[in-house]
Amino acid sequence: SSSSSTAKTLKIGSSADFAPFEFQGADSNEYQGFDMDLIRAIGKEMGTDVEINNIAFDGLIPALQSGNIDIAISGMSITDERKQQVGFSDPYYDSGLTIAVKADNNDINSFADLKGKKIAVQIGTTGAEEAKKIPDAQVKEMNSSADTFLELKAGNVDAVVNDKPVNDYYMVKNSDNTVKRVGEKLTSESYGIAVKKDNTKLVGELNAALKKLKENGEYNKIYKKWFGTEP
Ligand code: GLN
Repeated sequence: SSSSSTAKTLKIGSSADFAPFEFQGADSNEYQGFDMDLIRAIGKEMGTDVEINNIAFDGLIPALQSGNIDIAISGMSITDERKQQVGFSDPYYDSGLTIAVKADNNDINSFADLKGKKIAVQIGTTGAEEAKKIPDAQVKEMNSSADTFLELKAGNVDAVVNDKPVNDYYMVKNSDNTVKRVGEKLTSESYGIAVKKDNTKLVGELNAALKKLKENGEYNKIYKKWFGTEP
């Protein structure tokens, strides 16, 4: 049953460089990941088609504001600053920042140890903001989170500051043991689905669909597919 009066296709924006939330497979262009499965299930629940557009993370809020997309789902943390610019659904995933370093690095064991270090982050993210607060750190802002790991592997930076689930997934997928995650989470952040500010109708529809998917077990199924456990 459709809970939506919206018949058109919803235009979704996502920065498809953030496995396991959104990425393109090595041999297919299809968008995959937790967010992608979730938004397709939400679209189904709302009775609308979804069209996914790959947009750099720092371009998502501008794309919502200009009306180029209806919805952004991209591991986007709900922050007070962003709440001034866009509307958010209820939180759908609990996250937070962690550090990754090269496997043979034994000096960096916590955020305090990042003082004066070279750090790679993805531009426009909460990780970038937190890294900039670290005294004397040289922060290198990359276009994608994948690029932050390349910088680390190349030895151009000492550390990467990135979302915990993304760092963890990278460690599992790139099992060559050249990088490791260190320390505890620095922040507690919740991901939300973003829409144009004041589009309360769409927020209501997203929240209703999200609630339904949590009740009928579909959310848990998608969660288990990507994280191996129930939430
Ligand atoms: N959760 C972080 C943020 O919202 C990173 C998101 C991302 O890189 N896709 O800034």
